[in-house]
Amino acid sequence: MKINLIRFDMKVGRNKPENIIHKENDCPFCHPEGLTDIYATDEGGIILLKNKYDVLADADQLVLVETNRCGVDMPDYTTEHMRRIVRFGVSKWREMEASGKYSAVIFFKNHGHLSGGTMRHAHMQLVGFRGADPSLFPQEEDFEGLSIVERDGVLLNAATRPRLGFGEFNLVAAPGAIDALADLMQKTVAYVCDRFKKSQDSYNIFFYHAGEKIAAKIMPRFPTSPLLIGYDLRILPSNLPEIVEDFRENYL
Ligand SMILES: [Zn+2]
Repeated sequence: MKINLIRFDMKVGRNKPENIIHKENDCPFCHPEGLTDIYATDEGGIILLKNKYDVLADADQLVLVETNRCGVDMPDYTTEHMRRIVRFGVSKWREMEASGKYSAVIFFKNHGHLSGGTMRHAHMQLVGFRGADPSLFPQEEDFEGLSIVERDGVLLNAATRPRLGFGEFNLVAAPGAIDALADLMQKTVAYVCDRFKKSQDSYNIFFYHAGEKIAAKIMPRFPTSPLLIGYDLRILPSNLPEIVEDFRENYL
């Protein structure tokens, strides 16, 4: 079976700052005047810059700072700011893909210490790989699920082919439905942070292409299931219908 194997530079990795657990550590994103290699900015403190800790070989790593405020996150933003971030991020993702420099470009978010994140200040990441094969990424059937709502060209469901299982949501957006995607993404992050307390506000968002559409997976993070790690056995939680019902009744 073919796999994507990405080299990780341990020397750079060891020097990576961390301020989720060690809250006393300084936050560089709170001092934008000190940031270098800025590629683009937008209103409300949105900044796209080079990731100083480029641990991945044969790749360009970018950080998208979401806001000028520390300690706030997607559920706290205004509708307009949330839409602005997603529009900005998706357009930069597409620009990187159109540049012809990469075999694959990924766009994702880590939030919280169980997510793989190290920085408290809300941000997303873009990585352009010279070599990774995107045909090995999740495909259209991986975004199937029990429907929660369909609204303004965006479908939200609870994944029935989940990667991690417990509380995994898919968003599938028609081309051009970016604002509606942002709106439902904001609600889903709020749901995940409220209802999955054991994740301690740790979650991931991953963006994908699904034909002409844009898909996203949003999932709370916990210690990863050994069945997945050891055998690629996926977990389908028995309370999926209850989750769908609860989301629909209390968050939409
Ligand atoms: Zn900060």
